[in-house]
This record gives sequence, C-alpha cells and structure tokens, in this order.
Amino acid sequence: MGKTLAEKIIGSHAQKEVTAGEIVLVPVDVCLTQDGTGPLAIRQLQKINLEKAANPKKTVLFLDHAAPSPRRELANDHITIRKFAEKTGACLSEVGEGVCHQIISESYLNPGDILIGADSHTCTGGALCAFSTGMGSTDVAVGLALGKTWLRVPETFKVEVNGKFPPGVYPKDLILHLIGMIGADGATYKALEFCGDTIKKMSMSGRLTLSNMAVEAGAKAGLIASDETTKKFLQAQGRGSKFKKITADKDAVYERVIEIDASKLVPAVAFPHTVDNIKPISEAKGIKIDQVFIGTCTNGRLEDLKIATEIIKGKKKHPKTRMIIVPASKAVFLDAIKAGYIKTLVEFGATIMAPGCGPCVGVHEGILGDGEACLATMNRNFKGRMGNTEGFIYLASPATAAVTAIKGEIADPRGFFTKKKPVKKTAKKKKR
Ligand code: SF4
Repeated sequence: MGKTLAEKIIGSHAQKEVTAGEIVLVPVDVCLTQDGTGPLAIRQLQKINLEKAANPKKTVLFLDHAAPSPRRELANDHITIRKFAEKTGACLSEVGEGVCHQIISESYLNPGDILIGADSHTCTGGALCAFSTGMGSTDVAVGLALGKTWLRVPETFKVEVNGKFPPGVYPKDLILHLIGMIGADGATYKALEFCGDTIKKMSMSGRLTLSNMAVEAGAKAGLIASDETTKKFLQAQGRGSKFKKITADKDAVYERVIEIDASKLVPAVAFPHTVDNIKPISEAKGIKIDQVFIGTCTNGRLEDLKIATEIIKGKKKHPKTRMIIVPASKAVFLDAIKAGYIKTLVEFGATIMAPGCGPCVGVHEGILGDGEACLATMNRNFKGRMGNTEGFIYLASPATAAVTAIKGEIADPRGFFTKKKPVKKTAKKKKR
C-alpha cells in the first residue's frame, strides 16, 4: 500500500512500514523549547533528576516570546534557560536572534527529520518535509532528555492546490481560505499534505506560511514534499548536502482530498475572535484599524517585508494608524536592511522591533488599548491574544496589512496591482 509523507517519515524512524492509526516509538532529530515553555520542561526534568539533552547540538532553547524581557519573572525564566543550556550543552538562541520556527528552518531542520517542539506552531517545519509537531512541555522534556518520543501516525488530508494566484493574493490568503473552509477543528490530529502546481511553484517562504498555520485547523503536521525549492533553500543556508527527496506515493491512502483553485481566491481576512471566522476582503473593507503588525513565524520573512515595502514606498502612513514591523530573525533583519526595506518602512512611519515574536503573544510591544483594532499577519486572533481582552484582531496577508496602514482601514491590496489603463492620446488636428 502506498504511503503518505507522514507515514514515510515516521516509518523511516520506526524502521518499519507504518500506517495511519499506529502508535510508534521513534527517535527525535530536533527538539525545541521557547521561553514560555522551556522553564516548564526544565523544571520537569529537574524534578526527575534527568537534566540532560540526548542530542545537545540539535536541542535548541529559544528566547523569543518575551525577548528582551519585559518583566522580572520572565527575565528569571531566561536565566533558568541559559543555565540549562550551559549545563547540558544544548544550543541557546539568545534575545534578538528571532522566532524559534524561523531559526529552526534556517539553521537546524532537514527533510525527513522528526522535530518535536514545545510550541504549537512547530508544524512550520513541515514546509521542509520534516515531520514537525508541537507537544506539551512534559512530552518535549522527555524527548529532549531521552532522544525519543511516541507518536500516533496521523491520517492525512491531501490539499491539492492548482492555478495561479491573482495579483494581490498570497499563500496567507490560501491558508486562511482553507481554515475557513474546514474549520478550526476540521483536521484535528490529521496531517495536511499540500501539493499541486501552485505549491510546486511556491517559494519556501510561502510554504512556511502554509505549514505554520496547519495547526489552526487542528492538524498535527502540515507537510510539503521536498523538491528543487527545498534543495535551493538548504543550499542557501549552507546545508545543501542535507537535501533528501521525499514524495508521497501515487497510491497513498488519504482520509480526505481537498481541491482548491488558487486562481479563484481573493484576499481573505480572519475576523475576531477565531481564526476560522474568515471573510473575503469585500466584507472587511472600511473597518478602522488602530495598529498594523507585520511579523511573526507566519509572515515575518524577507519576502513578506518586500511585499509590504513595495506597497508603502512613496506613500504616507495614515496618521491614526500605528505600524509595527518585527523581522522573524536576525538574518531576515539584516537582509531587509541590505535591501533598503527597513529604511523605507521607517520613513513611512513604522516602528521596527527586535527579531522575535514581538506583539504576537501579548506580553509586550504593541499591546492593544481597550476597543482598539489591529490587523496583523500573525496566525491567531483569539480574545486577549495581544494582551487585552478588549482588543480586536484581524488576520491577513502582508499586502493587505500594508494597504491598510496607508488607508487607516482594512483595504483591498488588489487595487494596488491594477494597472492603470494608458490614456489614449488624441491625435492633434492638423492645422489647415
Ligand atoms: Fe508563537 Fe507568535 Fe512566536 Fe510564532 S511568532 S512562535 S505564533 S508567539
């Protein structure tokens, strides 16, 4: 029987053929924790006297969610993490390095790997065709210390996307559309497997956006077959030799097949307070926005900043709308400086924050005031997510975010791409 990507990767670790539904014990290639979950994992290990990392070079402890620390308790948590890294030899990703999922993709993860992370958006790594999944701190603690974990092999939904995105429509619109279609629990404990011509032609940045949000439909993983794009991405990161081609078998068994025509998509917006509350841009236009936020593990990459910069260049920010930019990693930040994006964004009136999660998790930087609305490129808009239960969060693409910052209200980015018809020159009448 043919195998899905999830069955292939998990099977190669279990050293046997596996099928959806089976529970297996597998070695773990990469482990991650962040500054919210790391201290919990460490305390669990201290309790059972198991303070060690089975594979320290592939155990990465991130300081990204509240970094630089806004409070004393969080600063003390950072100390706990630093001490654990020192004791075990695990890798430490310091304040300012960036968001865990971005750095894991840039520097640690390879096709065919199994990654477990104490953060729900660990599924981002599926874009590199690694079985990447979020787990609770205790599970990750044990995986980190012993180098293995248990998994139930998930059933897979095949998401086949064909057609070309219309101008102004992006992978973020596609994933929002899919989540709106199947619901926030539509793929609970399933693997989503993205395929089709649109995915084949999609950049790694766009793929990371898709895989990142798989969990917003409840999925355990969001996988994409490895190909030339994966290879080029790894080569650019100096890990070309780690490329491995992994594809699903033609006769793989899927629980469900979802077909999407990308050419029919429109910019999408997730309305407060759930990610599956998706509406087309036509229903969002005109909603006043106090703050625009571009960043996060979903849409804080160079390509996202490029899209936003091209839209805002030469325009004025709406005087009543604030704009916050958070590059997803130090590498993204440096590249954006080099490309001139940061200068253009600052001149436009944006506030640039240190690489990391920024306002995404609501502990610092850009907490909303009562009744304020934010349009963000992040992946969650739950009540209170940006630090205030009286705030309203709308989710959209970086292009929608950029035009919104200009207009001060949610606006359609497609207008930006509509070419003005050339004015016909009327022939001058000849003088007689
Ligand atoms: Fe979580 Fe947001 Fe940080 Fe991503 S950027 S890891 S979603 S807090």
